[in-house]
This record gives sequence, structure tokens and C-alpha cells, in this order.
Amino acid sequence: MAAEKIASTMGYLVRALKTPTIGRVCESLADQARDEAWSHEEYLTAVLQRQVADREANGTSLRIAGAHFPQVKTLEDFTLDHQPSLRRDVLAHLATTTFVAKAENVVLHGPPGVGKTHLAIGLGVKAAQAGYPVFFDTATGWVARLGAAHAAGRLDAELKRLRRYRLLLIDEVGYLPFDADAANLFFQLVASRYEQGSILVTSNMPFGRWGEIFSDDIVAAAMIDRLVHHAEVLSLSGESYRTRARRDLIAATNAGNGN
Ligand code: ADP
Ligand code: MG
Repeated sequence: MAAEKIASTMGYLVRALKTPTIGRVCESLADQARDEAWSHEEYLTAVLQRQVADREANGTSLRIAGAHFPQVKTLEDFTLDHQPSLRRDVLAHLATTTFVAKAENVVLHGPPGVGKTHLAIGLGVKAAQAGYPVFFDTATGWVARLGAAHAAGRLDAELKRLRRYRLLLIDEVGYLPFDADAANLFFQLVASRYEQGSILVTSNMPFGRWGEIFSDDIVAAAMIDRLVHHAEVLSLSGESYRTRARRDLIAATNAGNGN
């Protein structure tokens, strides 16, 4: 076949297959294959590998964009030295994202500023990289979303739609109390995902005080029961990273001034 004809047929084929990377790399890899005397199998493998790598990278960035993280934070940027009591083995296990495959949950407890949101996003990013659709919102944001769906008579449809996300992140449970309607919506969210899809919750409140958040001990207990039946519960402690960083900065500045 003439080179021109091959190029146009190839152009048609990669469009039909929706594999633009193959179209982009096939010629240069063919040159390399000729130079380095690759077998046909080696060439085909190299071309397909490039397509799959691009597709995975694009998929990951689409999933990260679709997750609505407030900022992208990674586990790699999280300094474990600041959290001596954090169970590293558990964190390393969570980072493998098998908890998502098994529809298990994660609860991160701790006072403000110790890195709960950072860890939650970091685990969300890992899940997105592993191919799982993920969605992030604050507890207040979730209640607003579910409340709007409920008011429009489509709560069930919304809960069903949310099932396509394999991991839902619910940040900051406990900063603001919920009224009975909000607590009920929250309960429905947790119940609808039970053994179906993962939830990762961060909270500044221990479970013993969730009755106060949801203004109902019974609803809170029923929710905690479903949430922790298959879950890792991690406690973070210590001083706020923000306060500590600021204090270190002031100390460094004073030292620099000779004070
Ligand atoms: P929380 O959600 O517990 O209130 P954040 O996750 O928002 O805390 O952390 C506050 C800030 O400090 C964020 O910018 C976060 O990236 C940073 N931070 C907290 N802990 C760590 C840590 N161990 N290593 C690196 N950055 C941290
Ligand atoms: Mg937070």
C-alpha cells in the first residue's frame, strides 16, 4: 500500500476506534521499530501501551476534575512526622484503595487543622487514579444537594445517581448541627450506600457526640452502625498544622532578626 493511502486509512481507523494516541505515535514508533529491528509484536505492544497510558492519565484527570475537590492534595505531600499517633499501616492499606473495591468506609476523626481534609482528598485522589469515580462535598453541601433533590421529589433518583460514584467524601461532619430533616437526609445517604459504595467521612466530633450533631441520638446511632460496620476509623491528634506552621515561621523570622 502507498504511504499516503496507509496514512489516510490509519487516520480513519484511529477515529473509528477512538484511539487518537495511536494515530499520533504510530509513525514515529514505526521509525524507531525499523531502526531498532523490533518484531511486529514488539511494535504493536509499544503502540497499544502508549494509547492505554494516555487513556489512563486522561481518565484520572477527568475523575479528579469531576470529584470537585476544594484543592488537590496528595498523600505524598502529607508529612507523617506531624501525626506520630496515626496508624501508618492502616493509612498505607487505605492508599491501596482496596476499601473502595470492597465498598468499605473510612472515618477520620480529629480536632481542626490536623489534616483530615488533606488526607481525605489524598485518598480520593488515589481512588481516582485507581479508576474509581469519586465525589467530594462538605456535610453542609451534601445536605443542600439532597435537600434540593428531596424538594423536587427526586431524592431516590439522586441517591441512585450517586451510586455511580464508588467513593463519596463527606467533609466536616460536626462543624454545623443538622435539624431533623437534614439528619434524615444524611441517614438516607448512608443507608443507600451500605455495602454498595464507600463513604469517607471526616469529623471533629467523636461518635459519642454525633447525637448532638444530628439532634437525635437514635438517628445518629443507626447511621454510625451502618457507617462503621465495614470501616477503618482513624484518629488524628495534636496541634493544628496551620498554627504550628505559623509559629515556626514566626520563630524563624525572630531568629533571623537576632531576637
Ligand atoms: P482539617 O481538615 O483537619 O481541619 P486540613 O486538612 O485542612 O485540616 O489541614 C490544614 C492545612 O494544613 C492544609 O493546608 C493541609 O494541607 C495542611 N496539613 C495538615 N496536616 C498536614 C501534614 N501532616 N502534612 C502536610 N500538610 C498538612
Ligand atoms: Mg477540614
